Amino acid sequence: MDRYEADLLLTMSEGEGPISSGVVDVVDGRVVWSGPSSEAPCRPEAAVHRIEGILMPGMVNIHCHSPMVLVRGAGEGLPVDRWLREAIWPREAMLTADDVRAGMRMGAAELLSNGITTSVEMYFHGDAVARGAAEAGLRCLVTAPVIEDARLSRFGVWEAQIEEMVATRDRWASSGLIEVGMGPHAAYSIPERCLRRIAEIAADTGMLVHIHVAEQEWEDAAVRERSGMSAPAYLESIGLLEGRALAAHAVWISDEDIDVFARNGVSVAHCPCSNAKHASGVARVDDLLAAGIRVGIATDGPASHHRLDLFEEMRTAIRLARIRQGDARALPPALALHMVTAGAADAIDRPDLGRLAPGARADMAALSPLEPSLHPVIPGEDDPVSRIVWSGSPACVESVWVGGRQVVEGGRVTSVDMEELRADMTGRAGRLSG
Ligand SMILES: [Zn+2]
Repeated sequence: MDRYEADLLLTMSEGEGPISSGVVDVVDGRVVWSGPSSEAPCRPEAAVHRIEGILMPGMVNIHCHSPMVLVRGAGEGLPVDRWLREAIWPREAMLTADDVRAGMRMGAAELLSNGITTSVEMYFHGDAVARGAAEAGLRCLVTAPVIEDARLSRFGVWEAQIEEMVATRDRWASSGLIEVGMGPHAAYSIPERCLRRIAEIAADTGMLVHIHVAEQEWEDAAVRERSGMSAPAYLESIGLLEGRALAAHAVWISDEDIDVFARNGVSVAHCPCSNAKHASGVARVDDLLAAGIRVGIATDGPASHHRLDLFEEMRTAIRLARIRQGDARALPPALALHMVTAGAADAIDRPDLGRLAPGARADMAALSPLEPSLHPVIPGEDDPVSRIVWSGSPACVESVWVGGRQVVEGGRVTSVDMEELRADMTGRAGRLSG
């Protein structure tokens, strides 16, 4: 048994605020007890770890394409459709499975050092994504994409892509770190027969369906031309929203679309920095939340927003919400923090993540008390949640554990050889840029 004693503990359990002098007990990678040290059970056998600063759940990033660290920086100044066709797909067409594995390992190292312990990934060569994440010790929900485009023909026809996805799931079925879901790219980029097949598999297996929805304004016309419906209504009509469904972006949606999400229990991954970078638009987060929809804040891929930083993402979400609503009380810091921890975990139906409560995975991040931006701390007036959300950054992340295994120490990732990885990545990225 390991006992973590922190100056300040945020469990992110419902209704539980910050606990000064808190304890988390961990056995076999799971939390068995958490709460104030004054109430902690007597466990003389525990190995005690002192955390000077704040201990909180590792963050849960519910929409990402981490191996795109390999193409980070390509296509500056383009809207998403041109950015994909002109800058990204030509490079991705050259990707090998080994590139993806190396890219995922690099992305995982970055996520971990930024306090993110789980990532929902959508990228080619799902098995290589899983391997790269597992090698770095990152918890990952891998959703291999299904996509049809002449430029991406090397990934095979959709039937083969689905077959490989299901095989990947079987391969990782006993992994404690990796879960495999399905990642149909978008309603406009895949044939209807394929979407129907994915819906059938999701119904049979309970696999998460992770799909881009209404990221850009033009998508609605493209889906209506095919189906006469909006993307959410179309996906509902073919049964794709019946199981665990996660819609990424959901920027250009109507009131009726929000009803579709609400009645199907669809969750939304809100990616404010990516939406801002590509001028995609501002998502209706307040309306989604008011309809009872589970919304997590996510980074999107590192080529869409360059950083895998949920601190920055939380602040951008708050700023956009406040400008959109004209209300300085909109999206309070506590809600933003919930949307990258317990709320994000709930959005992917993983209540074992994003909170430090009995039964949850011991995925934790410790923030250093020495980081200047987290000061001052005024006794009697301190609001640690507000400090973390408004002033926190990856620089504050001192230590990180995934399933009780420490993977970041002194702000540095210890689970991979960073020097070797950096050199390897530079070579691969150069080759892909042609
Ligand atoms: Zn995306």
